[in-house]
Amino acid sequence: MSSTNDNQANAREKVEKALSRDNLSNVIQPVRMEKNSDFEFRCHPGVSCFTNCCRNMNIILTPFDIIRLKKRLGLPSDLFLKLYTEPEILVESGLPVARLKMLDESGGKCPFVTPEGCQVYSDRPVCCRYYPIGIANLMQVEKESGQEEEFFFLIKENHCKGFEEKTCWTVDSWRADQEADLYDRMNKGWLKLLLRKKSFGEDTELPPRARELFFMATTNMESFRRFVFESRFLDTYNVNDEIVNKIRENDFELMQFAFEYLKNAMFGAESPVIKIREQILKKTVDKIIKTREKNKKLKKGKR
Ligand code: SF4
Ligand code: SF4
Repeated sequence: MSSTNDNQANAREKVEKALSRDNLSNVIQPVRMEKNSDFEFRCHPGVSCFTNCCRNMNIILTPFDIIRLKKRLGLPSDLFLKLYTEPEILVESGLPVARLKMLDESGGKCPFVTPEGCQVYSDRPVCCRYYPIGIANLMQVEKESGQEEEFFFLIKENHCKGFEEKTCWTVDSWRADQEADLYDRMNKGWLKLLLRKKSFGEDTELPPRARELFFMATTNMESFRRFVFESRFLDTYNVNDEIVNKIRENDFELMQFAFEYLKNAMFGAESPVIKIREQILKKTVDKIIKTREKNKKLKKGKR
């Protein structure tokens, strides 16, 4: 096999593994695309397949998607989650996420599709924005070295007539057209958390309480805000006043803060915006030492 073929097979294998979806092998073009790679595509109401693809989709909503959509629909997070999503544990990272629930009663249609197109178009999820481009780092692919790796691939489904249209794009110009930079910037902290969990090893199970906390802080801003402002949270953590004021009202600021909190509380990583207070840390360490000593004594007594 030539080295080009090797690279292509390698790219396909990585993508399929990352997506964990066997049925994609027929639609993913086994070509690794870079930002300047080009393709022809146009989706518009005049194509015969218009809106056909908005069904039976596996759309994992990012925290930014959820905030945009619930604001668009004028719903609180809990109601949005209940009506439009179902929870799922990502196989690759073991972390819980919200998946957009397709409507069984209408043949697996997306709840937002209408004959005229997407009802939430300007707030559609990042996954719909990128289509027909797939991005591999969204799917937690890492190089063997442990470095993050980003590359793109084309999802070419037989029913999609958009590929017969003669509008030229590069991956970069497509991304700009779809506001992908904003979405990538807003989702970066969350994607890093997913990768962080994966780096602990696929067999490391998170305790249920930690999973619940992760899900709440990344999907439900009203609950996370209550957790911050109506518990002993601010007595436990040092957070500067400027951040406290920002997160009081602004969901997008609160979402970024949630990523920093989870990074620190779940994975022990240092954060520039949140730090456990010295006296609380000391108390916790003392408690751990005391418990260990007590357990040692108990063990000795049993011998
Ligand atoms: S959110 Fe909009 S673009 Fe995405 S699948 Fe649903 S209808 Fe289609
Ligand atoms: S199948 Fe392709 S061309 Fe048709 S509506 Fe979907 S994205 Fe557009």
